[in-house]
Amino acid sequence: MEATMKAARVAKVPRKSKTYGEQRYCADEECSTRLSMYNKYDKCNLHKGVHFPRLRGHTKHLQDA
Ligand SMILES: [Zn+2]
Repeated sequence: MEATMKAARVAKVPRKSKTYGEQRYCADEECSTRLSMYNKYDKCNLHKGVHFPRLRGHTKHLQDA
């Protein structure tokens, strides 16, 4: 019984807010979206997935903006 309680505690990840620079913009030439400093990608949310067009069933959220 006690073992299960401990396992649940270990799963907690320390929240260290890593940043990647404040003045970064989307790497897409046509895009001037400023990236969040918490965004680890070099492109905005719109473009970071552009190389993976396997969006079958997952396109809806892209259109919602
Ligand atoms: Zn972009």
